[in-house]
Amino acid sequence: MNSDVICKGNFQPSPTKVPTQTNLALVEEGVKLILRAIGEDLNREGLQQTPNRVARMMAELTSSINIDPADQITCEFYEEAAGLVLVKDLTFNSTCEHHLLPFHGLVHVAYLPRDGRITGLSKLARVVDIASRRLQVQERLTAQIAQAIEDKLNPLAIFVMVEAEHSCMSLRGIKKPGSKTITTDARGLYKKDASLRAELLTLIEK
Ligand SMILES: [Zn+2]
Repeated sequence: MNSDVICKGNFQPSPTKVPTQTNLALVEEGVKLILRAIGEDLNREGLQQTPNRVARMMAELTSSINIDPADQITCEFYEEAAGLVLVKDLTFNSTCEHHLLPFHGLVHVAYLPRDGRITGLSKLARVVDIASRRLQVQERLTAQIAQAIEDKLNPLAIFVMVEAEHSCMSLRGIKKPGSKTITTDARGLYKKDASLRAELLTLIEK
């Protein structure tokens, strides 16, 4: 991509909202309650810093709660010749809102630019990170990534695929380690045109 790549000057990102300040003391109290409830001794040496550690960890895992993933697409370019853009194998870590356990895996993001309107590839990775750092379900994560691209680039087609392993399925309940859950969100031409979608899936599976 070298010809006519112009950053459109009047493209303004929406103001970034300040991330929610986690009430660390309150989380600590909650962790102490859980430890007590499962019969632990709060004064045991290994547990003394645990409530504080968990509180800081929760703040980190949910630090993007109030940030719109679309805000990450801050600079738009025009590239007349731009065809399919596919970014494969973006890793992510998120937290399942049903069990507060991690789920992690890969995201594949594809879009067909409208009138050559594209964004930096790293911005797509940022969108994935911001959408992940909150309590999530995989279906909503998939849709939020697609929505961010639609909001900022309005492309002809969008396809987002998320492949994830959920700790709540591998560690507890049905205990199926290694099982993968796949979700997709297809918009525009990728929703309407099955052959176009099939072509893309071949590229993703390569
Ligand atoms: Zn879960």
